[in-house]
Amino acid sequence: MKHQARLNCHVDLPSTWIKYRKDLCDDCRAVCCSLPVEVTIEDLVRMELVDVFEARDPAKEIAKRLRKRGLIEHFNFKSEIFTLARLANDDCIFLDQKTRRCTIYTKRPDTCRNHPRVGPRPGYCAYRRKD
Ligand code: SF4
Ligand code: SF4
Repeated sequence: MKHQARLNCHVDLPSTWIKYRKDLCDDCRAVCCSLPVEVTIEDLVRMELVDVFEARDPAKEIAKRLRKRGLIEHFNFKSEIFTLARLANDDCIFLDQKTRRCTIYTKRPDTCRNHPRVGPRPGYCAYRRKD
């Protein structure tokens, strides 16, 4: 019954999310890793997708190169915020499809570090148990 309620979570409907507890992540299929992830140039440097010298270039030039490499899906010219690319199933390109773990965990963007404390519904997340 407890799990039934959790299975009803839908990632695109924050109103269906459940109250977050740290232990939930242990058996979750990392549903939050299919949400769009906004990143800054500082994140991109830490992720080693942009080097410190390239980081001095105009953000729109960097965005053009990252898009060509299939690493971002969107760039906001006004805020200079990049959105990471996702796979056809909406998963982040850095999510291991077998283990459902982040392949760049220690270098992950701040958006991921802060989820779900900061996000579409602070304190709640779209938990779904691994099959
Ligand atoms: S959806 Fe929630 S429980 Fe699942 S990995 Fe993300 S934060 Fe953890
Ligand atoms: S960078 Fe890692 S933690 Fe962040 S969405 Fe991608 S796989 Fe998940």
